[in-house]
Amino acid sequence: MSHGPERHPASLWRDTAGAAPTVPTAPLPPHADVVIIGAGYTGLWTALHLLRADPTLDVLIIERTSVGFGASGRNGGWASALFPTSLSRVASFSSPEAARRMRRAMIGTVDDVATWAAEEGIDCDLTKGGTVTVARNRAQVDTLWADVAEAHTWGDTDDDLSFLDAHATAAHVRIPGTLAGSYTPHCAALHPLKLVHGLALAVLRRGGRIVEGVTALSYARGVVSTDRGVVTCGAVVRATEGFTARFDDHHREIMPIYSLMIATEPLSDAQWAEIGLPRRETFTEQRHVVIYGQRTADGRLAFGGRGAPYHWDSDVDAAHDAHPRVHTGLEQTLHELFPSLAGVRITHRWGGALGIPRDYMPFVRFEDGIGEAGGYVGDGVASAALAGRTMADLIRGESTDATTLPWVGHRGRDWEPEPVRWLEANGMLAGLGLADRREAATGRPSRIAAALYRFL
Ligand SMILES: Cc1cc2nc3c(=O)[nH]c(=O)nc-3n(C[C@H](O)[C@H](O)[C@H](O)COP(=O)(O)OP(=O)(O)OC[C@H]3O[C@@H](n4cnc5c(N)ncnc54)[C@H](O)[C@@H]3O)c2cc1C
Repeated sequence: MSHGPERHPASLWRDTAGAAPTVPTAPLPPHADVVIIGAGYTGLWTALHLLRADPTLDVLIIERTSVGFGASGRNGGWASALFPTSLSRVASFSSPEAARRMRRAMIGTVDDVATWAAEEGIDCDLTKGGTVTVARNRAQVDTLWADVAEAHTWGDTDDDLSFLDAHATAAHVRIPGTLAGSYTPHCAALHPLKLVHGLALAVLRRGGRIVEGVTALSYARGVVSTDRGVVTCGAVVRATEGFTARFDDHHREIMPIYSLMIATEPLSDAQWAEIGLPRRETFTEQRHVVIYGQRTADGRLAFGGRGAPYHWDSDVDAAHDAHPRVHTGLEQTLHELFPSLAGVRITHRWGGALGIPRDYMPFVRFEDGIGEAGGYVGDGVASAALAGRTMADLIRGESTDATTLPWVGHRGRDWEPEPVRWLEANGMLAGLGLADRREAATGRPSRIAAALYRFL
Protein backbone atom coordinates (compact mmCIF):
# COMPACT_ATOMS: atom_id res chain seq x y z
CA MET A 1 0.00 0.00 0.00
CA SER A 2 2.97 2.32 -0.42
CA HIS A 3 1.99 3.95 -3.66
CA GLY A 4 2.53 7.68 -3.98
CA PRO A 5 0.78 9.98 -6.45
CA GLU A 6 1.28 8.87 -10.04
CA ARG A 7 1.59 10.67 -13.33
CA HIS A 8 -0.44 9.31 -16.19
CA PRO A 9 -0.95 10.43 -19.81
CA ALA A 10 -3.41 13.31 -20.10
CA SER A 11 -6.77 12.12 -21.37
CA LEU A 12 -9.02 14.04 -23.69
CA TRP A 13 -11.36 14.41 -20.74
CA ARG A 14 -8.75 16.02 -18.54
CA ASP A 15 -7.87 18.53 -21.25
CA THR A 16 -11.49 19.48 -21.90
CA ALA A 17 -13.18 19.28 -18.48
CA GLY A 18 -12.19 22.75 -17.33
CA ALA A 19 -10.79 23.40 -13.88
CA ALA A 20 -11.03 20.61 -11.34
CA PRO A 21 -13.23 21.45 -8.35
CA THR A 22 -11.39 23.06 -5.50
CA VAL A 23 -11.36 20.51 -2.72
CA PRO A 24 -10.53 22.39 0.49
CA THR A 25 -7.28 21.19 2.02
CA ALA A 26 -8.27 19.84 5.40
CA PRO A 27 -6.69 17.62 8.02
CA LEU A 28 -8.03 14.13 8.24
CA PRO A 29 -10.82 14.21 10.84
CA PRO A 30 -10.69 11.55 13.56
CA HIS A 31 -14.32 10.50 13.03
CA ALA A 32 -17.18 10.60 10.52
CA ASP A 33 -20.57 8.90 10.36
CA VAL A 34 -19.65 7.35 7.02
CA VAL A 35 -16.15 7.07 5.54
CA ILE A 36 -15.96 6.30 1.84
CA ILE A 37 -12.68 5.11 0.35
CA GLY A 38 -12.28 6.34 -3.24
CA ALA A 39 -13.64 9.40 -5.06
CA GLY A 40 -14.85 7.80 -8.28
CA TYR A 41 -18.47 7.37 -9.33
CA THR A 42 -19.18 4.69 -6.70
CA GLY A 43 -17.89 6.74 -3.80
CA LEU A 44 -19.33 10.05 -5.01
CA TRP A 45 -22.81 8.70 -5.85
CA THR A 46 -22.93 6.94 -2.48
CA ALA A 47 -22.03 10.17 -0.69
CA LEU A 48 -24.45 12.22 -2.74
CA HIS A 49 -27.40 9.89 -2.18
CA LEU A 50 -26.65 9.70 1.54
CA LEU A 51 -26.60 13.49 1.80
CA ARG A 52 -29.70 13.94 -0.34
CA ALA A 53 -31.56 11.55 1.95
CA ASP A 54 -30.14 12.85 5.23
CA PRO A 55 -28.36 16.21 5.18
CA THR A 56 -27.38 15.80 8.83
CA LEU A 57 -25.04 12.88 8.08
CA ASP A 58 -21.32 13.49 8.39
CA VAL A 59 -19.94 11.91 5.21
CA LEU A 60 -16.21 11.82 4.51
CA ILE A 61 -14.58 10.64 1.26
CA ILE A 62 -10.89 9.88 1.35
CA GLU A 63 -9.11 9.74 -1.99
CA ARG A 64 -5.59 8.50 -2.52
CA THR A 65 -4.80 10.84 -5.40
CA SER A 66 -7.41 13.32 -6.63
CA VAL A 67 -11.12 13.22 -7.38
CA GLY A 68 -11.75 11.20 -10.56
CA PHE A 69 -8.21 9.84 -10.77
CA GLY A 70 -9.49 6.30 -11.44
CA ALA A 71 -11.57 4.87 -14.26
CA SER A 72 -14.38 7.34 -13.55
CA GLY A 73 -12.31 10.21 -14.90
CA ARG A 74 -11.00 8.40 -17.96
CA ASN A 75 -13.66 6.12 -19.42
CA GLY A 76 -15.53 5.93 -22.72
CA GLY A 77 -18.49 7.90 -21.39
CA TRP A 78 -21.18 5.33 -22.16
CA ALA A 79 -23.83 5.59 -19.46
CA SER A 80 -25.50 2.40 -20.61
CA ALA A 81 -27.89 -0.27 -19.40
CA LEU A 82 -25.23 -2.91 -20.14
CA PHE A 83 -24.56 -5.46 -17.42
CA PRO A 84 -21.41 -7.55 -17.68
CA THR A 85 -22.98 -10.94 -17.08
CA SER A 86 -25.88 -12.58 -18.89
CA LEU A 87 -29.35 -12.51 -17.40
CA SER A 88 -29.44 -16.30 -17.30
CA ARG A 89 -26.30 -16.16 -15.15
CA VAL A 90 -27.86 -13.48 -12.95
CA ALA A 91 -30.92 -15.74 -12.63
CA SER A 92 -28.70 -18.65 -11.62
CA PHE A 93 -27.48 -16.52 -8.68
CA SER A 94 -31.02 -15.41 -7.83
CA SER A 95 -34.22 -16.04 -9.84
CA PRO A 96 -35.52 -15.24 -13.35
CA GLU A 97 -37.80 -12.59 -11.87
CA ALA A 98 -34.87 -10.96 -10.07
CA ALA A 99 -32.80 -11.04 -13.27
CA ARG A 100 -35.59 -9.23 -15.13
CA ARG A 101 -35.75 -6.62 -12.38
CA MET A 102 -31.99 -6.11 -12.69
CA ARG A 103 -32.37 -5.45 -16.42
CA ARG A 104 -35.23 -2.98 -15.84
CA ALA A 105 -33.26 -1.26 -13.07
CA MET A 106 -30.27 -0.81 -15.39
CA ILE A 107 -32.52 0.61 -18.10
CA GLY A 108 -34.06 3.01 -15.58
CA THR A 109 -30.64 4.06 -14.31
CA VAL A 110 -29.65 5.57 -17.67
CA ASP A 111 -32.46 8.11 -17.23
CA ASP A 112 -31.74 8.42 -13.50
CA VAL A 113 -28.18 9.54 -14.22
CA ALA A 114 -29.55 12.30 -16.47
CA THR A 115 -32.22 13.28 -13.93
CA TRP A 116 -29.93 13.28 -10.90
CA ALA A 117 -27.24 15.19 -12.81
CA ALA A 118 -29.81 17.81 -13.86
CA GLU A 119 -31.14 18.09 -10.30
CA GLU A 120 -27.61 18.73 -9.05
CA GLY A 121 -26.88 21.26 -11.80
CA ILE A 122 -24.23 19.03 -13.38
CA ASP A 123 -23.47 19.72 -17.04
CA CYS A 124 -21.60 16.70 -18.39
CA ASP A 125 -22.45 16.96 -22.12
CA LEU A 126 -24.96 14.16 -21.71
CA THR A 127 -26.96 13.12 -24.79
CA LYS A 128 -29.12 10.02 -24.79
CA GLY A 129 -28.61 8.81 -28.35
CA GLY A 130 -28.52 5.07 -27.72
CA THR A 131 -25.97 2.55 -28.96
CA VAL A 132 -25.51 1.08 -32.41
CA THR A 133 -23.61 -2.20 -32.77
CA VAL A 134 -22.38 -3.30 -36.19
CA ALA A 135 -21.69 -6.80 -37.48
CA ARG A 136 -19.18 -7.10 -40.32
CA ASN A 137 -18.91 -10.85 -40.83
CA ARG A 138 -21.41 -13.73 -40.76
CA ALA A 139 -20.28 -14.94 -37.35
CA GLN A 140 -20.87 -11.49 -35.87
CA VAL A 141 -24.31 -11.34 -37.51
CA ASP A 142 -25.23 -14.70 -35.96
CA THR A 143 -24.08 -13.57 -32.50
CA LEU A 144 -25.87 -10.27 -32.79
CA TRP A 145 -29.06 -11.98 -33.86
CA ALA A 146 -28.77 -14.46 -30.99
CA ASP A 147 -28.14 -11.64 -28.49
CA VAL A 148 -31.25 -9.75 -29.62
CA ALA A 149 -33.34 -12.94 -29.52
CA GLU A 150 -32.02 -13.80 -26.04
CA ALA A 151 -32.79 -10.29 -24.76
CA HIS A 152 -36.35 -10.62 -26.05
CA THR A 153 -36.83 -13.87 -24.11
CA TRP A 154 -36.06 -11.78 -20.99
CA GLY A 155 -38.74 -9.20 -21.71
CA ASP A 156 -36.97 -6.73 -23.98
CA THR A 157 -38.96 -5.54 -26.98
CA ASP A 158 -37.78 -3.88 -30.18
CA ASP A 159 -38.08 -0.62 -28.27
CA ASP A 160 -35.27 -1.85 -26.01
CA LEU A 161 -33.05 -3.66 -28.50
CA SER A 162 -33.74 -4.24 -32.18
CA PHE A 163 -31.95 -6.06 -34.98
CA LEU A 164 -31.23 -3.89 -38.02
CA ASP A 165 -30.39 -4.72 -41.61
CA ALA A 166 -27.39 -3.03 -43.22
CA HIS A 167 -29.52 -0.20 -44.61
CA ALA A 168 -31.13 0.61 -41.24
CA THR A 169 -27.73 0.41 -39.52
CA ALA A 170 -26.36 3.01 -41.96
CA ALA A 171 -28.92 5.51 -40.66
CA HIS A 172 -26.92 5.43 -37.41
CA VAL A 173 -23.35 4.88 -38.58
CA ARG A 174 -21.64 4.20 -41.88
CA ILE A 175 -18.90 1.60 -41.49
CA PRO A 176 -17.58 -0.30 -44.54
CA GLY A 177 -18.51 -3.97 -44.72
CA THR A 178 -21.46 -3.68 -42.35
CA LEU A 179 -23.83 -6.62 -42.88
CA ALA A 180 -26.25 -5.89 -40.04
CA GLY A 181 -26.53 -4.11 -36.73
CA SER A 182 -28.53 -3.62 -33.60
CA TYR A 183 -29.80 -0.53 -31.84
CA THR A 184 -30.75 0.19 -28.26
CA PRO A 185 -31.92 3.58 -27.02
CA HIS A 186 -30.67 2.80 -23.52
CA CYS A 187 -27.36 4.63 -23.51
CA ALA A 188 -26.25 8.22 -23.05
CA ALA A 189 -22.91 9.58 -24.20
CA LEU A 190 -21.32 11.90 -21.64
CA HIS A 191 -18.09 13.59 -20.62
CA PRO A 192 -16.94 11.30 -17.80
CA LEU A 193 -14.68 13.72 -15.98
CA LYS A 194 -17.22 16.55 -16.07
CA LEU A 195 -19.61 14.13 -14.38
CA VAL A 196 -17.02 13.34 -11.69
CA HIS A 197 -16.29 17.03 -11.10
CA GLY A 198 -19.99 17.85 -10.91
CA LEU A 199 -20.61 15.04 -8.44
CA ALA A 200 -17.73 16.17 -6.23
CA LEU A 201 -19.04 19.73 -6.20
CA ALA A 202 -22.53 18.49 -5.38
CA VAL A 203 -21.18 16.42 -2.47
CA LEU A 204 -19.24 19.41 -1.12
CA ARG A 205 -22.21 21.74 -1.58
CA ARG A 206 -24.36 19.36 0.45
CA GLY A 207 -21.89 19.37 3.32
CA GLY A 208 -19.88 16.24 2.53
CA ARG A 209 -16.13 16.33 3.07
CA ILE A 210 -13.49 15.10 0.63
CA VAL A 211 -9.86 14.76 1.63
CA GLU A 212 -7.44 14.09 -1.23
CA GLY A 213 -3.99 12.58 -0.90
CA VAL A 214 -4.99 10.07 1.77
CA THR A 215 -4.47 6.36 1.20
CA ALA A 216 -6.58 3.86 3.09
CA LEU A 217 -4.31 1.01 4.15
CA SER A 218 -6.98 -1.25 5.61
CA TYR A 219 -10.56 -1.07 6.81
CA ALA A 220 -12.69 -2.94 9.31
CA ARG A 221 -15.96 -2.38 11.13
CA GLY A 222 -15.93 1.14 12.55
CA VAL A 223 -12.37 2.03 11.55
CA VAL A 224 -10.26 2.96 8.53
CA SER A 225 -6.47 3.02 8.85
CA THR A 226 -4.76 5.44 6.50
CA ASP A 227 -1.27 6.70 5.80
CA ARG A 228 -2.31 9.87 7.66
CA GLY A 229 -3.88 8.29 10.72
CA VAL A 230 -6.94 6.40 11.82
CA VAL A 231 -10.55 7.47 11.26
CA THR A 232 -13.35 5.89 13.22
CA CYS A 233 -16.80 5.72 11.69
CA GLY A 234 -20.28 4.29 11.89
CA ALA A 235 -19.97 2.80 8.41
CA VAL A 236 -17.18 2.39 5.88
CA VAL A 237 -17.58 1.98 2.11
CA ARG A 238 -14.86 0.60 -0.12
CA ALA A 239 -15.19 2.10 -3.59
CA THR A 240 -11.79 1.37 -5.08
CA GLU A 241 -12.68 -0.90 -8.07
CA GLY A 242 -9.53 -1.51 -10.18
CA PHE A 243 -7.28 -0.59 -7.24
CA THR A 244 -8.86 -3.05 -4.78
CA ALA A 245 -6.09 -5.62 -5.23
CA ARG A 246 -3.78 -3.26 -3.35
CA PHE A 247 -5.58 -4.16 -0.11
CA ASP A 248 -3.75 -7.25 1.12
CA ASP A 249 -6.97 -8.74 2.55
CA HIS A 250 -8.83 -8.30 -0.76
CA HIS A 251 -6.00 -8.93 -3.19
CA ARG A 252 -7.77 -11.54 -5.34
CA GLU A 253 -11.30 -10.14 -5.23
CA ILE A 254 -11.21 -7.87 -8.29
CA MET A 255 -8.82 -8.22 -11.21
CA PRO A 256 -7.55 -4.93 -12.67
CA ILE A 257 -7.65 -4.93 -16.47
CA TYR A 258 -6.57 -2.00 -18.56
CA SER A 259 -8.76 -0.43 -21.18
CA LEU A 260 -7.08 2.09 -23.48
CA MET A 261 -8.44 5.01 -25.44
CA ILE A 262 -7.56 7.49 -28.18
CA ALA A 263 -9.27 10.66 -29.38
CA THR A 264 -9.18 12.56 -32.64
CA GLU A 265 -9.05 16.26 -33.20
CA PRO A 266 -12.50 17.82 -33.80
CA LEU A 267 -13.89 16.57 -37.13
CA SER A 268 -15.48 18.70 -39.84
CA ASP A 269 -19.18 18.68 -40.68
CA ALA A 270 -18.31 16.91 -43.94
CA GLN A 271 -16.52 14.15 -42.03
CA TRP A 272 -19.47 13.74 -39.69
CA ALA A 273 -21.81 13.59 -42.69
CA GLU A 274 -19.84 10.56 -43.91
CA ILE A 275 -19.62 8.87 -40.50
CA GLY A 276 -23.13 9.48 -39.19
CA LEU A 277 -23.90 9.18 -35.45
CA PRO A 278 -26.41 12.02 -35.85
CA ARG A 279 -27.79 11.55 -32.32
CA ARG A 280 -24.35 11.04 -30.74
CA GLU A 281 -25.07 7.32 -30.64
CA THR A 282 -22.31 5.38 -28.94
CA PHE A 283 -21.00 2.63 -31.23
CA THR A 284 -19.26 -0.71 -31.17
CA GLU A 285 -18.62 -3.75 -33.34
CA GLN A 286 -19.77 -7.23 -32.30
CA ARG A 287 -16.22 -8.41 -31.49
CA HIS A 288 -14.99 -10.59 -28.69
CA VAL A 289 -12.24 -8.13 -27.73
CA VAL A 290 -14.40 -5.14 -26.85
CA ILE A 291 -14.14 -1.82 -28.72
CA TYR A 292 -16.27 1.25 -28.02
CA GLY A 293 -16.61 4.81 -29.24
CA GLN A 294 -18.53 8.01 -28.84
CA ARG A 295 -19.01 11.23 -30.80
CA THR A 296 -18.03 13.83 -28.23
CA ALA A 297 -19.95 17.03 -27.65
CA ASP A 298 -17.05 18.96 -29.21
CA GLY A 299 -17.16 16.88 -32.39
CA ARG A 300 -14.32 14.37 -31.90
CA LEU A 301 -14.27 10.62 -31.92
CA ALA A 302 -13.23 9.13 -28.60
CA PHE A 303 -12.48 5.49 -29.20
CA GLY A 304 -11.24 2.70 -26.97
CA GLY A 305 -10.81 -0.99 -26.51
CA ARG A 306 -9.47 -3.79 -24.40
CA GLY A 307 -6.47 -5.78 -25.53
CA ALA A 308 -3.89 -4.49 -23.09
CA PRO A 309 -2.21 -7.27 -21.11
CA TYR A 310 -3.02 -8.15 -17.54
CA HIS A 311 -0.07 -7.30 -15.31
CA TRP A 312 1.46 -9.86 -12.97
CA ASP A 313 -0.01 -10.00 -9.47
CA SER A 314 -2.79 -7.52 -10.36
CA ASP A 315 -0.36 -4.63 -10.63
CA VAL A 316 -1.92 -1.20 -11.19
CA ASP A 317 0.48 1.53 -12.17
CA ALA A 318 0.48 4.70 -14.25
CA ALA A 319 3.06 3.04 -16.50
CA HIS A 320 0.32 0.71 -17.76
CA ASP A 321 -1.92 3.57 -18.95
CA ALA A 322 0.01 3.70 -22.19
CA HIS A 323 0.72 0.69 -24.38
CA PRO A 324 2.16 1.56 -27.81
CA ARG A 325 1.07 -1.68 -29.53
CA VAL A 326 -2.52 -1.45 -28.26
CA HIS A 327 -2.80 2.28 -28.93
CA THR A 328 -1.48 1.78 -32.47
CA GLY A 329 -3.94 -1.09 -32.93
CA LEU A 330 -6.79 1.20 -31.85
CA GLU A 331 -5.72 3.80 -34.43
CA GLN A 332 -5.64 1.13 -37.14
CA THR A 333 -9.09 -0.12 -36.16
CA LEU A 334 -10.48 3.41 -36.14
CA HIS A 335 -9.15 3.97 -39.68
CA GLU A 336 -10.56 0.62 -40.77
CA LEU A 337 -14.00 1.58 -39.44
CA PHE A 338 -13.86 5.14 -40.77
CA PRO A 339 -11.50 5.34 -43.78
CA SER A 340 -12.41 9.02 -44.23
CA LEU A 341 -10.36 9.72 -41.09
CA ALA A 342 -7.04 9.05 -42.85
CA GLY A 343 -4.84 12.03 -42.02
CA VAL A 344 -6.91 13.10 -39.02
CA ARG A 345 -4.75 13.85 -36.00
CA ILE A 346 -4.94 11.66 -32.90
CA THR A 347 -4.61 14.20 -30.11
CA HIS A 348 -4.81 11.97 -27.02
CA ARG A 349 -3.85 8.44 -25.99
CA TRP A 350 -4.56 7.25 -22.47
CA GLY A 351 -5.90 4.36 -20.40
CA GLY A 352 -7.04 3.18 -17.03
CA ALA A 353 -7.85 0.16 -14.91
CA LEU A 354 -11.33 -1.30 -14.65
CA GLY A 355 -12.23 -4.11 -12.27
CA ILE A 356 -13.33 -7.67 -13.04
CA PRO A 357 -14.72 -10.05 -10.42
CA ARG A 358 -14.10 -13.78 -10.98
CA ASP A 359 -17.75 -14.44 -11.92
CA TYR A 360 -18.24 -11.15 -13.83
CA MET A 361 -21.11 -10.31 -11.48
CA PRO A 362 -20.99 -6.79 -10.00
CA PHE A 363 -22.01 -6.43 -6.38
CA VAL A 364 -23.25 -4.03 -3.71
CA ARG A 365 -22.85 -5.23 -0.15
CA PHE A 366 -23.36 -3.71 3.26
CA GLU A 367 -22.77 -6.09 6.12
CA ASP A 368 -21.64 -5.38 9.69
CA GLY A 369 -21.02 -1.73 8.97
CA ILE A 370 -18.82 -2.46 5.95
CA GLY A 371 -19.94 -1.54 2.43
CA GLU A 372 -18.25 -2.78 -0.75
CA ALA A 373 -19.41 -2.12 -4.31
CA GLY A 374 -17.93 -2.62 -7.74
CA GLY A 375 -16.86 -5.35 -10.12
CA TYR A 376 -18.61 -3.57 -12.98
CA VAL A 377 -16.10 -4.80 -15.60
CA GLY A 378 -16.36 -2.12 -18.32
CA ASP A 379 -19.94 -1.11 -17.56
CA GLY A 380 -19.58 1.04 -14.47
CA VAL A 381 -20.76 4.48 -15.54
CA ALA A 382 -24.47 3.87 -14.97
CA SER A 383 -24.03 0.84 -12.67
CA ALA A 384 -22.03 2.85 -10.16
CA ALA A 385 -24.85 5.39 -9.95
CA LEU A 386 -27.28 2.59 -9.12
CA ALA A 387 -24.74 1.04 -6.74
CA GLY A 388 -24.30 4.37 -4.95
CA ARG A 389 -28.01 4.85 -4.55
CA THR A 390 -28.38 1.27 -3.34
CA MET A 391 -25.48 1.60 -0.89
CA ALA A 392 -27.03 4.75 0.56
CA ASP A 393 -30.33 2.90 1.08
CA LEU A 394 -28.53 -0.03 2.71
CA ILE A 395 -26.50 2.18 5.05
CA ARG A 396 -29.66 4.01 6.12
CA GLY A 397 -31.42 0.69 6.70
CA GLU A 398 -34.09 1.43 4.10
CA SER A 399 -35.74 -1.42 2.22
CA THR A 400 -36.34 -0.24 -1.36
CA ASP A 401 -36.67 -1.64 -4.87
CA ALA A 402 -32.93 -1.14 -5.19
CA THR A 403 -31.96 -3.07 -2.06
CA THR A 404 -33.66 -6.24 -3.29
CA LEU A 405 -31.86 -6.38 -6.64
CA PRO A 406 -29.90 -9.59 -7.18
CA TRP A 407 -26.45 -7.99 -7.05
CA VAL A 408 -27.10 -6.87 -3.46
CA GLY A 409 -25.18 -9.07 -1.06
CA HIS A 410 -23.62 -11.02 -3.91
CA ARG A 411 -20.17 -12.42 -3.14
CA GLY A 412 -18.37 -14.39 -5.82
CA ARG A 413 -15.25 -16.44 -5.36
CA ASP A 414 -11.78 -14.97 -5.57
CA TRP A 415 -9.49 -15.10 -8.58
CA GLU A 416 -6.88 -17.85 -8.57
CA PRO A 417 -3.42 -17.16 -7.14
CA GLU A 418 -0.51 -16.46 -9.50
CA PRO A 419 0.68 -17.80 -11.87
CA VAL A 420 -2.77 -19.18 -12.73
CA ARG A 421 -4.37 -15.72 -12.70
CA TRP A 422 -1.81 -14.35 -15.16
CA LEU A 423 -2.25 -17.35 -17.44
CA GLU A 424 -6.05 -17.20 -17.46
CA ALA A 425 -6.24 -13.43 -17.99
CA ASN A 426 -3.67 -13.23 -20.76
CA GLY A 427 -4.73 -16.60 -22.22
CA MET A 428 -8.32 -15.35 -22.46
CA LEU A 429 -7.14 -12.16 -24.15
CA ALA A 430 -5.02 -14.02 -26.70
CA GLY A 431 -7.80 -16.55 -27.35
CA LEU A 432 -10.49 -13.93 -27.91
CA GLY A 433 -8.20 -11.95 -30.22
CA LEU A 434 -7.59 -15.11 -32.24
CA ALA A 435 -11.33 -15.81 -32.30
CA ASP A 436 -11.99 -12.35 -33.76
CA ARG A 437 -9.39 -12.88 -36.48
CA ARG A 438 -10.75 -16.36 -37.34
CA GLU A 439 -14.33 -15.11 -37.50
CA ALA A 440 -13.29 -12.23 -39.77
CA ALA A 441 -11.46 -14.68 -42.05
CA THR A 442 -13.97 -17.53 -42.14
CA GLY A 443 -17.30 -15.94 -41.20
CA ARG A 444 -17.97 -18.89 -38.90
CA PRO A 445 -18.51 -18.57 -35.13
CA SER A 446 -15.28 -19.38 -33.35
CA ARG A 447 -15.15 -22.55 -31.30
CA ILE A 448 -12.27 -21.07 -29.32
CA ALA A 449 -14.49 -18.23 -28.12
CA ALA A 450 -17.30 -20.63 -27.22
CA ALA A 451 -14.87 -22.73 -25.17
CA LEU A 452 -13.43 -19.68 -23.42
CA TYR A 453 -16.85 -18.34 -22.45
CA ARG A 454 -17.70 -21.69 -20.88
CA PHE A 455 -14.64 -21.23 -18.69
CA LEU A 456 -15.96 -17.95 -17.20
C1 LIG B 1 -10.57 3.34 -20.37
C2 LIG B 1 -11.84 2.92 -19.72
C3 LIG B 1 -13.04 3.03 -20.44
C4 LIG B 1 -14.26 2.68 -19.84
N1 LIG B 1 -15.42 2.93 -20.52
C5 LIG B 1 -16.60 2.74 -19.90
C6 LIG B 1 -17.80 3.14 -20.53
O1 LIG B 1 -17.80 3.72 -21.62
N2 LIG B 1 -18.97 2.87 -19.90
C7 LIG B 1 -19.01 2.25 -18.68
O2 LIG B 1 -20.09 2.02 -18.17
N3 LIG B 1 -17.86 1.93 -18.02
C8 LIG B 1 -16.66 2.18 -18.59
N4 LIG B 1 -15.52 1.88 -17.94
C9 LIG B 1 -15.61 1.38 -16.56
C10 LIG B 1 -15.96 2.51 -15.58
O3 LIG B 1 -15.19 3.66 -15.85
C11 LIG B 1 -15.73 2.04 -14.14
O4 LIG B 1 -16.46 0.85 -13.94
C12 LIG B 1 -16.16 3.04 -13.09
O5 LIG B 1 -15.63 4.31 -13.37
C13 LIG B 1 -15.72 2.57 -11.71
O6 LIG B 1 -15.97 3.61 -10.80
P1 LIG B 1 -15.47 3.46 -9.30
O7 LIG B 1 -15.79 4.71 -8.60
O8 LIG B 1 -15.99 2.19 -8.73
O9 LIG B 1 -13.88 3.27 -9.42
P2 LIG B 1 -12.74 4.35 -9.86
O10 LIG B 1 -13.28 5.39 -10.76
O11 LIG B 1 -11.58 3.56 -10.36
O12 LIG B 1 -12.40 5.07 -8.50
C14 LIG B 1 -11.68 4.46 -7.48
C15 LIG B 1 -10.96 5.58 -6.72
O13 LIG B 1 -10.43 5.04 -5.52
C16 LIG B 1 -9.18 5.65 -5.28
N5 LIG B 1 -8.43 4.74 -4.42
C17 LIG B 1 -7.97 3.51 -4.75
N6 LIG B 1 -7.37 2.93 -3.69
C18 LIG B 1 -7.49 3.82 -2.66
C19 LIG B 1 -7.08 3.78 -1.29
N7 LIG B 1 -6.43 2.72 -0.80
N8 LIG B 1 -7.34 4.86 -0.51
C20 LIG B 1 -8.01 5.94 -1.00
N9 LIG B 1 -8.41 6.01 -2.29
C21 LIG B 1 -8.17 4.96 -3.11
C22 LIG B 1 -8.58 5.79 -6.66
O14 LIG B 1 -7.53 6.77 -6.71
C23 LIG B 1 -9.79 6.16 -7.49
O15 LIG B 1 -9.96 7.56 -7.60
C24 LIG B 1 -14.28 2.19 -18.52
C25 LIG B 1 -13.08 2.05 -17.79
C26 LIG B 1 -11.88 2.42 -18.39
C27 LIG B 1 -10.60 2.28 -17.61
